[in-house]
Amino acid sequence: MGRIAENIEYKRFLDWCKKNKNDLANRASEIAENRDNSNRTGHLYRGYLAAVHFLSEYPSVHEWLKKQRLSSRQPVNVNEMTFSKPWSEFMRRESKKHAVLRNILPKQYGGETTSGGGGAYPFKVALRLAAEFVPLSDEGEASLPAKYRMVRKKEFDRDYPEVNRLKKRYGFRCQVCQNTISLGGGKFYSEAHHLRPLGRQHKGPADIANVVILCPQHHAEFDFFLFAILDYKGKSRRLEHMLRDLGTHENRLLTNHKIGPEFVDYVTEQYLTRYDRLEGEA
Ligand SMILES: [Zn+2]
Repeated sequence: MGRIAENIEYKRFLDWCKKNKNDLANRASEIAENRDNSNRTGHLYRGYLAAVHFLSEYPSVHEWLKKQRLSSRQPVNVNEMTFSKPWSEFMRRESKKHAVLRNILPKQYGGETTSGGGGAYPFKVALRLAAEFVPLSDEGEASLPAKYRMVRKKEFDRDYPEVNRLKKRYGFRCQVCQNTISLGGGKFYSEAHHLRPLGRQHKGPADIANVVILCPQHHAEFDFFLFAILDYKGKSRRLEHMLRDLGTHENRLLTNHKIGPEFVDYVTEQYLTRYDRLEGEA
């Protein structure tokens, strides 16, 4: 998120804290306005940005956090199993983006500071409140702008609940390139593709084993059967593109759910048909 957009987001969050009368929201307002003279306004800001980013990638932690009390001075126990592993993973992976927070937090919170670690408290406050403030769950995906909706409407209408859950499971990221389109306010956009497409021509089933989550670019290429799905390698499958060499950022289809072999076969069949047609034209 750009700096200006982040600031607007954060201001909305602080306004929301002011209107909320629970203990934690009051504590956040106190810190933000430095009424406690602890000079931790920046800690809260950095903690909030990281929290929103983190929650968008770990919806299960989001659910867990929402169950923690809002009327407590110790809102989150970072050593809790549900939380500690994904958080430290996240901090390692995103260490560049959240470098400031990393400098503020002590080791047990995924940071690097060995003295004080006064940033941990504002971070925990921000994290618990962000889980309340940011809409995730099934509403995590925003509705589409009108113009785009016309193009994609048919597919969007076919998004049954399992598809939404699957998008969430992949953090709204493309299974090929891992990109997502952030729409701000904790909302993200990704597309569901049926390997054997629904509708008259292909008659594919509305079955989650027939679905992959993709970005618009890779979705279009899958629609045209430009990709073939090859053998497994660990949790991913190798991809081949009909017209270009694939770099390491897009030569694999990450698979965290079961994809039906019959649908993979269908893709291969279509890929070969298309390939033959191209060869014929050449
Ligand atoms: Zn992609």
